[in-house]
Amino acid sequence: MSIIAQNLKRIQNNIPAQARLVAVSKTKPVSAIQEAYEAGQRIFGENKVQELTTKYELLPRDIEWHMIGHLQSNKVKYIAPFVKLIHGVDSFSLLQEINKQGQKNNRVLDVLVQFHIAKEESKFGFSWDDAESMLKSAEFSSLTHVRVVGVMGMASFTSDEQMIRSEFRELKIYFDKLKETYFKNENSFREISMGMSGDYPIALEEGSTLVRIGSAIFGGR
Ligand SMILES: *Cc1c(COP(=O)(O)O)cnc(C)c1O
Repeated sequence: MSIIAQNLKRIQNNIPAQARLVAVSKTKPVSAIQEAYEAGQRIFGENKVQELTTKYELLPRDIEWHMIGHLQSNKVKYIAPFVKLIHGVDSFSLLQEINKQGQKNNRVLDVLVQFHIAKEESKFGFSWDDAESMLKSAEFSSLTHVRVVGVMGMASFTSDEQMIRSEFRELKIYFDKLKETYFKNENSFREISMGMSGDYPIALEEGSTLVRIGSAIFGGR
């Protein structure tokens, strides 16, 4: 078995049934993705639009491609025809553009609302108040070609496990509140995207449904 296949197997064994693995293949060659594909992996995540579209063209059509990084509005059009889930929606204007491109492609695009849960300045995402005011607005209700299926967040880059755990816990609380208040009867609102190579076991304990794992599968970048 290849190293990639071994890594995938080991990680899959640690993922409970309610969660799924997004194999983060950014910067890695098509051959590495092919290896993971042959080992049974079907969900892949990329954080750059150009790289995502190139890989989409070259690889099998039954791959689910997830856009996991910061997305610029002017690039949504390139991924709208095929992307399966956009994890990092961090502004209403981006959501409007995704809706517009969904309409053009005659698709309803699934997205996650990204929350700023880390104590660090540099990470993107909504505050609770800003997310709520968006979800309450008439403009949000008028979007017909976008579907919010959950939340996404990144914990602080730290070795402090308690801090990471409390940030993931905060995201889970946001998810629960949104579910109760805005998505009560929508079964599709069910995803909590949290956890990377360094912190995914904690994220799974705190309720993650999508872990985004790169280096633990494909090696360092
Ligand atoms: C790169 C990246 C990951 C995966 O990081 P690893 O530490 O390699 O597992 C997860 N989420 C996002 C948003 C990323 O950009």
